[in-house]
Amino acid sequence: MIGTVDAIESLSLEGKVALVTGGSRGIGAAVVRLLAHRGASVAFCYRQQAELAQKLADKIRTETGRSVLPIQADVIDPEQVRTMVEKVRSELGGVDILVNNAGIVRDTLFLRMDESRWDEVINTNLKGAFLCTKAVVPMMVSKRWGRIINVSSVVGLIGNVGQANYAAAKAALIGFTKSLAKELGSRNITVNAVAPGFIVTDMTASLPEEIRNRYESQIALRRFGQPEEVAEVVAFLASDAASYITGQVIVVDGGLI
Ligand code: NAP
Repeated sequence: MIGTVDAIESLSLEGKVALVTGGSRGIGAAVVRLLAHRGASVAFCYRQQAELAQKLADKIRTETGRSVLPIQADVIDPEQVRTMVEKVRSELGGVDILVNNAGIVRDTLFLRMDESRWDEVINTNLKGAFLCTKAVVPMMVSKRWGRIINVSSVVGLIGNVGQANYAAAKAALIGFTKSLAKELGSRNITVNAVAPGFIVTDMTASLPEEIRNRYESQIALRRFGQPEEVAEVVAFLASDAASYITGQVIVVDGGLI
């Protein structure tokens, strides 16, 4: 509880249920793992690679002894989102913590950007968060407790060449975060965003070496971050230790901006 000097207790997620979108790989997988280690029961969704998701769930369940529930669901499909949230409610008892993490990039220069690349990125990164949040908020309101953490990006703050679609989606996610924080604060629900810089995942794996080196030279810590370094911030925001933080964007970029 608040005011305690026991750090372990205030960071504990014992008794909470979390839903992490896009939890099968990268940052999402590190978040699923850390939330379970902190004591939460965790459901996560993914779009494809069911075997990978099942293996991850089995591994984390063995490590932590917590319930870990993988669900195949596309966050851009309202019906699949509804079915997913209903499954979490019936199997784990509700959703206390929502991490809107599922995201994609479809990079290209604006002059070459067709409507499909725009729609795909906006729908996955932004509308997906809307649909998932819409589906879980009533449960949080009735419990008068909730944590929503949106995974944005530094690109939503500073822009990036070839990422007008992604930057627009991630910036919009910040506006969404700040507005929801104001609407839901009176119900004891906090809403925050994390804005990672360059993190070592499949999303950044295909960057040409020359570009990677250029980015690294612009980062104070001179390296890309690890998914676990983002997960630490998400787990903190999900905990009682962050009970008086809402409507904020926490940048996790090793000193890029
Ligand atoms: P990643 O390794 O590519 O993993 C993306 C995850 O999202 C996968 O589990 C993927 O599942 C899932 N996903 C994608 N589209 C989905 C959909 N429509 N419905 C359900 N799940 C979907 O990505 P990451 O690097 O960990 O990125 C995670 C989040 O952090 C994203 O929002 C990204 O924009 C943000 N971010 C990443 C970085 C970075 O440098 N990596 C920096 C800033 C922000 P499938 O495998 O089944 O498709």
